[in-house]
Amino acid sequence: MNEKFIEERKAALEARRDELKKELNTSADQIAENDYDAKFIDLGDKDDENAAEVAMFEKNLSMEKTLEVSLYNVNKALKKINEGNYGICEKCKSLIKPDRLKAFPSATACMKCKEKLL
Ligand SMILES: [Zn+2]
Repeated sequence: MNEKFIEERKAALEARRDELKKELNTSADQIAENDYDAKFIDLGDKDDENAAEVAMFEKNLSMEKTLEVSLYNVNKALKKINEGNYGICEKCKSLIKPDRLKAFPSATACMKCKEKLL
């Protein structure tokens, strides 16, 4: 893989990381560098208010989980770039196809291994 390709993936990953952090901030509170807790919004003490609070919290929680996993994967890919082992399948150690990395820069497994997991 050439350096330019990796630089482009790095830029894409960094943009994605900022995006994810922004999205996370709307549904969660940051409690550590890469750790978030779903927001709980206090609307009041009435039954319907409590029900709305729970519904909102559940929505935030599922969103927070999805976003947090994505952020984790993006950070992991950026770490791999720094360590010089970006684009290597974690399962079979073969090179992940550039097309796959273009479409999905945080991919950690090649298509073959990914299909086996599904
Ligand atoms: Zn593989």
